[in-house]
Amino acid sequence: MSRCAIAAGSNLGGRSGHLNAAIDGLNAIGDVVAISSVYETAPIGGPEQGPYLNAVVLIDTARTPIGLLRELLLIERARGRVRHERWGPRTLDLDLILFDRLAVDEPGLTVPHPRMLERRFVLEPLLEVWPDARMPDGAAIAASTESVWTQEIRRIDMVLGDRSRSVDQ
Ligand code: ATP
Ligand code: CA
Ligand code: CA
Repeated sequence: MSRCAIAAGSNLGGRSGHLNAAIDGLNAIGDVVAISSVYETAPIGGPEQGPYLNAVVLIDTARTPIGLLRELLLIERARGRVRHERWGPRTLDLDLILFDRLAVDEPGLTVPHPRMLERRFVLEPLLEVWPDARMPDGAAIAASTESVWTQEIRRIDMVLGDRSRSVDQ
């Protein structure tokens, strides 16, 4: 089994419903071992669009990295994800952030996720659920620049998973 960190984001439709559906989907392909707090984040790049809800989920899975990515893309599709423009609004985005300490660089899959260290909405929930996570070279997870911590994100009062079924935002 490999321990993997998956960053989930949604800024279209019932955002918490999409995130909960992601957790259900992940449960079917591995064991969900931790779910971070939910953060509300202003979009970075792309067109004018609404704020995201972001969270990080840890799973233990027997899938290969490519096999796991394929499943993530299927879960996105099941939530109606349509790709129009780069970094455009989406019902559900699932990025494979870390796969144990493995480095993968293949067409269609780079792990660790190449932009993870620039994004507070990834780093903060990741360190919450996996404080001793490491990069493939053994380095502790750290923001690539100090300025990452000036990005505005807001931890919100919402719990994902079984205790949150009645919430919809
Ligand atoms: P970003 O990658 O900057 O967060 P995005 O999530 O909006 O942008 P997408 O349109 O969701 O980008 O994904 C484009 C492609 O990125 C996917 O089809 C997938 O093949 C590829 N990809 C490469 N590495 C990863 C990874 N670690 N996790 C998820 N997708 C990846
Ligand atoms: Ca993404
Ligand atoms: Ca993505």
